[in-house]
Amino acid sequence: MARITATISPVHADGTVCTHKVTATGKPKEADCTGRAAYRATRSACTWTDQSQVTAALEDDRNQHLRSHLTIPAPIAVSA
Ligand SMILES: [Zn+2]
Ligand SMILES: [Zn+2]
Repeated sequence: MARITATISPVHADGTVCTHKVTATGKPKEADCTGRAAYRATRSACTWTDQSQVTAALEDDRNQHLRSHLTIPAPIAVSA
C-alpha cells in the first residue's frame, strides 16, 4: 500500500510559500521576508489543499482527508 503524505509549508500573507529562516518566535530573519501568516497543506497525489494559521488544525484536516481516500476510490485527476 502506497504511503500517503501531505506537505505542510508556511506561507506569507500574500499566499506565497515562505522558505526564509525565522527565529524561534516566528520573526523573519531575512529582509525580503514579510513573515509567516499561515500554513498550507498540499498533496502531490491529488488536488487537495488546506490553509490554516494552526498546524494542528491542518493535521486534523489532512488526517480526515486521508481517511476519505480509504473509503472511496480516489477520483481521476481532471486537468484544470
Ligand atoms: Zn518568508
Ligand atoms: Zn486526496
